[in-house]
Amino acid sequence: MLTRPFARSLFWFRRDLRAFDNAALHAALLQSERVFCVFVFDRQILDALEDRADRRVEFIWESVLELRSALRALGGDLWIAHAVASEAIPAIACALSVDAVFTNHDYEPQAKARDERVCEALARQQIEFKTHKDHVIFEKDELLTQGGKFFSVFTPYKNAWLKRLEAFYLKAYPVAKHAKRLADATQASADIRVSSSSVGFSTDIPSLDAMGVTRTNLREMNFPTGASGGEALLGDFLKRIDRYDEARNFPALKGPSYLSTHLRFGTVSIRGLAREAWTRWQEGSRGAEVWLSELIWRDFYAHILHHNPRVVERSFKPEYDGIAWSNDEALFAAWREGRTGYPIVDAAMRQLNQTGYMHNRLRMVAASFLVKDLLIDWRWGEAYFAAKLNDFDLSANNGGWQWAASTGCDAQPYFRIFNPLSQSEKFDADGVFIRKYVPEVAMLSNKDIHAPWLTSPVELRARGFAVGRDYPLPIVDHARAREATLAEFKRALNQKTKA
Ligand SMILES: Cc1cc2nc3c(=O)[nH]c(=O)nc-3n(C[C@H](O)[C@H](O)[C@H](O)COP(=O)(O)OP(=O)(O)OC[C@H]3O[C@@H](n4cnc5c(N)ncnc54)[C@H](O)[C@@H]3O)c2cc1C
Repeated sequence: MLTRPFARSLFWFRRDLRAFDNAALHAALLQSERVFCVFVFDRQILDALEDRADRRVEFIWESVLELRSALRALGGDLWIAHAVASEAIPAIACALSVDAVFTNHDYEPQAKARDERVCEALARQQIEFKTHKDHVIFEKDELLTQGGKFFSVFTPYKNAWLKRLEAFYLKAYPVAKHAKRLADATQASADIRVSSSSVGFSTDIPSLDAMGVTRTNLREMNFPTGASGGEALLGDFLKRIDRYDEARNFPALKGPSYLSTHLRFGTVSIRGLAREAWTRWQEGSRGAEVWLSELIWRDFYAHILHHNPRVVERSFKPEYDGIAWSNDEALFAAWREGRTGYPIVDAAMRQLNQTGYMHNRLRMVAASFLVKDLLIDWRWGEAYFAAKLNDFDLSANNGGWQWAASTGCDAQPYFRIFNPLSQSEKFDADGVFIRKYVPEVAMLSNKDIHAPWLTSPVELRARGFAVGRDYPLPIVDHARAREATLAEFKRALNQKTKA
């Protein structure tokens, strides 16, 4: 009979809130006689939130509730705490006398530092810390250039990714098959119950109120949470995946998958999604091929962050660190609040503020506008998105912002500057998306809605509308702003070359 190295283990859920196809949970079950599952609402993260109404915390809360039900259905349970994770995990591991703690990798610098602290604390108690790849298909040094370096350009990375791919990398980890090793609350002996409660863990979930978090409009929006929400969204998307390549650029269309928040919190498995995309691509779906490419971008940015943690603070290309940003507070406020006078930019920002989501095309347009039209430091925009996006992911957000600012790896060249007007006319031609989020301009014609300030005043008067009264005048003139930005980027680059 197979002997298992560990009598008791702890499995720590973080950004992998699912009880199926979970790499480290599967490993824990294979290697242990009994596995206790825990989740921590980390005070270090929650206490730092400025806005106490955060859709992400609510998403996690709902998803943890569902996760506990899923574990119970498998015969296990979930112990939950509201505590500082780096202290609570060693404490419960010690109280339960486990031999090992299992968890999945997180590549963000702060998470890595936390895991190092946990690992050291566990080592002092002779408890092993076993970590696994789960969040991406390829991680760390699994894909490197022929010279043994990390990839800084997407296309060769993607080619290497596809070349390396085998069925093994897309295979689901069969958690349910080994679920009888999961510890449940009734099996757990009295001393275990006492130990876990003494270090702040319980199978009851702390209320949002108790954690100082208020409810948002997540439920009103019918935002699907938990593994069931991820499954429903995927099911819906697979019906339209073949058209993804055409539909994905138009914010008024139901083009993308809307799975990013689920990918962020692991209520879906990246292996499951990549498998669906790969299989459909092999069957001839162009949409599936393009969607797989987007999933590879996600791996790519995680790869960049892992190998270059400095991008969190600085430009990937150091030559862009010398740009003299205008950083005008009033312009920044107008951008944040969706009152720039450019309807497409305002619609994008209002979508973000009202829902926590922004369509990918609009993320590019809004980011480009902040950096290249307002000459505001990309880090300001990045921080605002980080605070607001339900799907905020450090590597993808940083990658997206540095791409738009031209400071990143494989970014758009600095002289390519999005024109908000032509982007609007091209990707929201009939103004359907604009009308949804900027109702003030809804009565304008499909032609005029993109640039109300260019519409003849007579026409506007006839509609009872005045630019500057009912809707802002543009806060900058795009053509002039473009010239100023080009000059500043050129100056900064020349200066760097001379130095
Ligand atoms: C300035 C900027 C900031 C961004 N910030 C984030 C962020 O914080 N979190 C985030 O998940 N994505 C971010 N993105 C990438 C992209 O906009 C979102 O992943 C996408 O809009 C999410 O919607 P979806 O799930 O419907 O996407 P789909 O089009 O259905 O794509 C499927 C998945 O692929 C991944 N993906 C798609 N595009 C990208 C991309 N360009 N880079 C990395 N992964 C990608 C995401 O995980 C996404 O869920 C950002 C892009 C830009 C330009």
